[in-house]
Amino acid sequence: MAQSRVWHPFTQHALEPSIPEIVLTEGAYLHKADGSRILDAISSWWVVTHGHRHPRIMKAIETTASNLDQIIFAGFTHEPAERLAEALVGLAPAGLDRVFYSDSGSTSIEVALKMALGYFRNIGAPRSRIVVMEHSYHGDTIGAMSVGARGVFNAAYEPLLFEVDTIPFPAAGREQETLDRFEALSRDRRAAALIVEPLVLGAGGMLMYPAWVLTELKRITEAAGTLLIADEVMTGWGRTGTMFACEQASVSPDILCTSKGLTGGTIPLAATIATDAIFQAHYSEDRKKTFFHSSSYTANPIACAAALANVEIWHDEPVADRIAALSERQAAGLRRFRDNPRFTDCRTTGTIAALDLRTGSAGYLAEIGPKLRAFFLERGLLVRPLGNVLYLLPPYCITGNELDGLYDAIEEAGERFGSKP
Ligand SMILES: *Cc1c(COP(=O)(O)O)cnc(C)c1O
Repeated sequence: MAQSRVWHPFTQHALEPSIPEIVLTEGAYLHKADGSRILDAISSWWVVTHGHRHPRIMKAIETTASNLDQIIFAGFTHEPAERLAEALVGLAPAGLDRVFYSDSGSTSIEVALKMALGYFRNIGAPRSRIVVMEHSYHGDTIGAMSVGARGVFNAAYEPLLFEVDTIPFPAAGREQETLDRFEALSRDRRAAALIVEPLVLGAGGMLMYPAWVLTELKRITEAAGTLLIADEVMTGWGRTGTMFACEQASVSPDILCTSKGLTGGTIPLAATIATDAIFQAHYSEDRKKTFFHSSSYTANPIACAAALANVEIWHDEPVADRIAALSERQAAGLRRFRDNPRFTDCRTTGTIAALDLRTGSAGYLAEIGPKLRAFFLERGLLVRPLGNVLYLLPPYCITGNELDGLYDAIEEAGERFGSKP
């Protein structure tokens, strides 16, 4: 192939001169041009849920494409968007009634932040502070970066990021500090919203915290009149064992963001689902109170149809059983590392398993990251550690044997790259 013109995401091209080409995706596998295949143990960056190219979703895409392409969504509507909104309200925690479409996780976050500020302005009690959790990740646009952890990823853009208030990550045994800090920050009633990844902080290192902490955070937001934004972009669609992670805390957020698994991981779509109160704050004969947000491809009909097919799969196939079985396997699989001195912090939440490799260096830029990635790729496994954090976040169609192969490889990686205490 001639030299590629493509600039890849999160890729240091000087260190990764050759990038494999994928010609076919199927179930849990990516097929390369040379006929070999790679087991996709991270669901192609957390998007694929049932497996690559579920036939029902692909069929819906085909069928819809024979009638509809993009249509302007201001002043017009279409059946896939209407039916999907109805379905999403049915699936989301109680009280979330209004669906605003966009096209990526990051934009769903921007929309949520704008809704929160618009809400307080429109009810005549402006608030503009946003409270965030340490180690969070909410996307790569300026607003989403502003509410996410600061670090090497966004150091160059820091001058453009807005100021936020941060509560500590609720590490095991120190949860009360998080709640106390949030309670203190809530006292002056300047916080428009608390934004959190419920139960699992993904890009921050697959950090997990118990559901009761989320329940308590919600209680504090209610007492202070602060909105709770649940970023379920990664945790949604069964990843943590339930449809949405908030369910495990019996929490109904004021705004919920969903994207990655929304179309089963086939084509881009996002939704920001809000309470009726937030919608009503924008509902007025005063045009100034309009929610001023759109992206050109909002509510793409083909993407909405793909998402609807995904919802139908949840209704018609034993998806919950598959998730329960996968979750058990992940918990059992990690048990074998509990006494392995080369690993620490074995943890699972639903279908997500993670553990830290004991090495001399930690953090995303740790030298070990690329070495581990190459190690797994040589074995036909797509595992993409976050620094020294190894995690498996597979599509739900992965088999027990395939998982066993992954745990074997992780054990071998421990022997090769891990150090003992
Ligand atoms: C991936 C992710 C996002 C950003 O989604 P994009 O579609 O990549 O813009 C936001 N929040 C969380 C929790 C994510 O994991």
